[in-house]
Amino acid sequence: MVQALQEQDFKALVDHHPRAIMLSTPDARITYVNRMFHSVTGYRPNEVLGRAPSVLSSGLHSTEFYRAMWQSLTDHGRWEGLIWNRRKNGENYPQWLTIYPVEYNGNRLFAGVFMDVGELTAGNERLASLAYYDPLTELPNRSLFQEFLKARVSQRDPATNRFAVLYIDLDFFKSVNDLHGHDCGDRVLQQAAACIQGIVRKGDVIARLSGDEFAAMVELETEDELQAVCERMTNAFRAPILVDHREYFLSASVGAAIFPRHGESAAELLQNADRAMYTAKIAGRACYRVYSAVESEQGHYQQRLSEALMASLKVAQDEFSVVYQPQYDLVSGAMVGMEALMRWQHPELGAVSPAEFVPLAEQRGHIHELTEVLVRCITRDLDQYCGGSGNSKRLAINISARQIADGRLEQLLEPFFNRIRQAGWVPEIEITETHLMNLSRRCLDRLREFGEKGIRVAIDDFGTGYSSLAYLHSLPVDVLKIDRKFVQRLGADGRDARIVSAILAIAEALDLEVVAEGIETETQKAKLQELQCHRGQGYLMARPSPLEGLKLA
Ligand code: C2E
Ligand code: MG
Ligand code: MG
Repeated sequence: MVQALQEQDFKALVDHHPRAIMLSTPDARITYVNRMFHSVTGYRPNEVLGRAPSVLSSGLHSTEFYRAMWQSLTDHGRWEGLIWNRRKNGENYPQWLTIYPVEYNGNRLFAGVFMDVGELTAGNERLASLAYYDPLTELPNRSLFQEFLKARVSQRDPATNRFAVLYIDLDFFKSVNDLHGHDCGDRVLQQAAACIQGIVRKGDVIARLSGDEFAAMVELETEDELQAVCERMTNAFRAPILVDHREYFLSASVGAAIFPRHGESAAELLQNADRAMYTAKIAGRACYRVYSAVESEQGHYQQRLSEALMASLKVAQDEFSVVYQPQYDLVSGAMVGMEALMRWQHPELGAVSPAEFVPLAEQRGHIHELTEVLVRCITRDLDQYCGGSGNSKRLAINISARQIADGRLEQLLEPFFNRIRQAGWVPEIEITETHLMNLSRRCLDRLREFGEKGIRVAIDDFGTGYSSLAYLHSLPVDVLKIDRKFVQRLGADGRDARIVSAILAIAEALDLEVVAEGIETETQKAKLQELQCHRGQGYLMARPSPLEGLKLA
């Protein structure tokens, strides 16, 4: 039999309610607090009963803020919103607060029900329905984050209190989605959110802004602390993200803006952190940048570049050309192949490096068009300058991993590779290692099919990704290209020689050929010969040049 609830039962209900509850009188005295109140604020009942609710206040809000709160209570009988309060231990924290009047024994009281942001992440339906939460990661979304920022910025004395906004964008996330599907992408995002949460301190706020973009509001004692936080953030993404025993290799580009130096309003801070993140992307991703007005100029430049690229691909394809860099047998000195590298000469922007425009084309979804241009240029060069002079040397082209699953690629490359063979060359495809790590089974099958058709597959920039031996073994590749950063450090310092010789040992065990790239000095070349690396390319022997001027013998 269920008995009617007694008054003490209601008291027990309130005492044990999972939200903090506080009752106060109209003349601003606290008359009751429940147990959760202690967990959230750190104050025991005897420390606050009889005192003013302002004992909890952080001092972060303006008097207008409180005036509006009371106005709403009077007009609508309720106030609900985000407020920054201070715990007993001095920590400021954002909390979601609802205030409403209650009548008790003929007295009018105000009930305040609240929870801190950490608890909000436990998933509150009401908040979710208010569209404040991102259901996937259970983090605040962009609107709530902006609320938090506004509240934080409205602090009255900015001089004594610094904080930074971090804008975190995952690199290569799109390829996880493209290659493995959205379910998998979602799980990776959840892991990424947990990873970010692990970096910031309690009380710092993180949010998912959209897609693969996150933000954090980080309290700082001094500006110097920022560097360490940003470093921890980028480092955290150097390790793979594990989903269902599979490793995903992402990295994060992070931009930071400091209050009040880089922006005095919430909007300005977030925008400048975003701009700084963009400069980190341009700097090669997997790194962080703190906002600077100068670099932001470069952000505008990138925007312009991106627009120019789209336009040139559409209407001015003659601005693109291809240069070829010979590869040599390091023992005999004979030329054994060449790598085709794209060039873009824009009438106003001048010569733009492929290291800049290839990633832009990938991001904007125009990499296929770019490869079409590459194919057209090489075909024209072969037609014009070398009838059948390949003599079974390699002709390598760079292919973006994003393209491999694209059905149009095979149609484009099949006749092209036939044309290359006709000219006496053996076609080779280079794919950058960092991208290789995220290929799905379907993409690997595609690569294997290329291999079966006699096309050689090379891993470009080897040493910059995280290939494990087991993974390498399962890959359908024939060639490893040692990244030039290892070659460039070859010399007096024995450490880097050890890396190169380790790569050579791996290649030998897996029966792969090796090409060292970026050889610039005789010392580097001699060292490579000594380590028994047989093939190489670099400015020392030949810079990339038009096919016309190349000695193909
Ligand atoms: P990559 O495939 O690793 O190409 C090697 C890069 O190193 C080339 O830069 C080349 O000019 C440069 N290089 C060669 N020898 C030396 C040297 O001794 N010292 C130094 N410092 N650099 C050397 P480039 O042409 O600017 O290309 C940059 C990257 O752009 C390429 O790296 C490749 O990932 C990408 N790329 C170039 N052309 C294409 C293309 O047609 N399609 C695609 N998808 N990517 C391309
Ligand atoms: Mg290459
Ligand atoms: Mg390379």
